[in-house]
Amino acid sequence: MLKVEDINVYYGAIHALQGVSLEVLEGEIVTLIGANGAGKSTLLKTLSGLLKPKTGDIKFLGKSIAGQSATSIVMQGLIHCPEGRRVFANMTVEENLELGAYLRKDHQEIKKDMEGVYERFPRLLERKKQQSGTLSGGEQQMLAIGRALMSRPKLLLLDEPSMGLAPLLVQDIFRTVEEINKQGTTVLLVEQNANQALKIAHRAYVLETGNIVLSGNAAELSQSEEIKAAYLGGH
Ligand code: ATP
Repeated sequence: MLKVEDINVYYGAIHALQGVSLEVLEGEIVTLIGANGAGKSTLLKTLSGLLKPKTGDIKFLGKSIAGQSATSIVMQGLIHCPEGRRVFANMTVEENLELGAYLRKDHQEIKKDMEGVYERFPRLLERKKQQSGTLSGGEQQMLAIGRALMSRPKLLLLDEPSMGLAPLLVQDIFRTVEEINKQGTTVLLVEQNANQALKIAHRAYVLETGNIVLSGNAAELSQSEEIKAAYLGGH
């Protein structure tokens, strides 16, 4: 579904992604783990068209999308759910969800999807007229995911959905990601919480200072001594 081929991305003189290649197959949850500053957000921004690779290619559903506009990439079904809770704080829950569907014209289907999001996250239904900035951290994360679902993603890019959440909420969010995947959405999950991410993912890549240093089956990687020492707190 997604094939990243040897991309190099720079911020001025900073070489943030150094020949990164990876692949996500239809139906998978693939996780990308890495420490602060490894380049995870840079990779997602490049996939969604916010940054352009200097060299290399990105293929989505068999077509090159490197260098295309962010809007065109969204319209093809590659949806980026950004880090933290970048919801529109001054808008209500409902308005945020409507924005997720702003490129769509199928009003009946949009209504159905909105009901689906409220079914998945009943908390959002209870708060649909509430200003999003006043939601709790967990609720804002649900809203960010709900808004992404309103775009009908074929591939959902999730940037650190567990960041800043209490442990119980973290489990809820990972369970939700698993469910979304089981219902047919392919997921690329960027996480610092390697432990949980490796539990729900099929495959994983490890990014260090702009380079993929390890990749493979998630269950196997979670047993690797190297991963345990560096990302799983030695457990
Ligand atoms: P974190 O988990 O802390 O968000 P990350 O793995 O997502 O980290 P990136 O945000 O992708 O890392 O950053 C990768 C590198 O690129 C870092 O060295 C960072 O300082 C640098 N970088 C990121 N954004 C910019 C920018 N706008 N201008 C210059 N350098 C940047």
